[in-house]
Amino acid sequence: MTAVMPTYGRTDLRFERGEGAYLIADDGRRFLDFGAGIAVNSLGHAHPRLVAALTDQAKALWHTSNLYHIAPQERLAERLVANTFADTVFFCNSGAEAVECSVKVARKYHDETGAPGRYRILTFAGAFHGRTLATLAAGRQEKHLHGFEPVVEGFDQVGYGDAKAAAAAVGPETAAILVEPIQGEAGIRPAPDGFLAELRRIADDAGILLLLDEVQTGVGRTGRFFAHEWAGITPDVMAVAKGLGGGFPIGACLATDKAAIGMTPGTHGSTFGGNPLATSVANAVLDEILADGFLGHVEAVAARLRDGLDKLASKHGNKIAEVRGQGLMLGLRCHGPNTALIAALIGNGLLTVIAGDNVVRLLPPLIITHDHVDEALGILDRTLADLDV
Ligand code: PLP
Repeated sequence: MTAVMPTYGRTDLRFERGEGAYLIADDGRRFLDFGAGIAVNSLGHAHPRLVAALTDQAKALWHTSNLYHIAPQERLAERLVANTFADTVFFCNSGAEAVECSVKVARKYHDETGAPGRYRILTFAGAFHGRTLATLAAGRQEKHLHGFEPVVEGFDQVGYGDAKAAAAAVGPETAAILVEPIQGEAGIRPAPDGFLAELRRIADDAGILLLLDEVQTGVGRTGRFFAHEWAGITPDVMAVAKGLGGGFPIGACLATDKAAIGMTPGTHGSTFGGNPLATSVANAVLDEILADGFLGHVEAVAARLRDGLDKLASKHGNKIAEVRGQGLMLGLRCHGPNTALIAALIGNGLLTVIAGDNVVRLLPPLIITHDHVDEALGILDRTLADLDV
């Protein structure tokens, strides 16, 4: 056993510092970072506005607990409410906690509105919702659950994209449907057209809640503030994390007043959730992402990247089977092993992220320029040409 519990398969790299879209290793090598800490460093590394927000807050106040009001937390909640479907926000520290809170909100809603027997959550094959016991049960992946049984009770699953099966699986004990607008860990699998709208209708017809997991898709990643905006629907509850803190740990569960009716004092809590440091940084992230033109910039660079990737997929059709995704959440499905391509890209100075279904994920910081896109496409082209698989 190593001093750090060996739960990860790590690449043999140690980074010393970051500058915008680049990471610099301890041996001086410079990498274009198209992984962004798995969709977390939304504004890249060492963004001056985030550094200032964190250091200013650090000089004033680090932590008080939620026994007291926290001004930057209140401001962040008000801004999330003003810019989404939500009326109210619970803050936590990670994506899994944000999903757990969403599940709790759904169960409490039915308990409060006279249907305490409605507690089951319907999820979708390939889902990833986190590594706590309940979120593992929600994802239902054998490889993640093995050895950690018994599995938390109360989760059902049907095929992703199969609205008919979803409608049939909703029963008298179902409390909510939980879904990712694009499945990230499963290999950047976007919901088929109309799927989210179908789920919205199924939930409304059954009097149950629609919970969205936008932990990976949220906060500008797809070119909208949240990915469900593309589908023209709103959820009742939504889990957010990753990009919200730009690298500072924070999670949030957003809900309508109606859905959160049961979430009264004492029903849920987190010592660190919504701490002054985390919420000050998240406010600075929103200053950038909600600024005029920012999401338009994401769309423009994403279109250039997508176009270039489609051309590379045609040129290297023996190695790339498919390009998929939306905005700056893109995946290359490989014919040969994705691990070989990821390793070769590292050798040529480009960082990407592994995903299911033999996919290489591209999740660059949202601040990348056309030059960064062209640099990444150049590295991909050279690497694919040289790749011997
Ligand atoms: N939900 C989704 C869609 C995710 O992609 C992840 C992490 O990859 C999580 C939940 C869990 O987030 P965390 O690792 O912050 O607990």
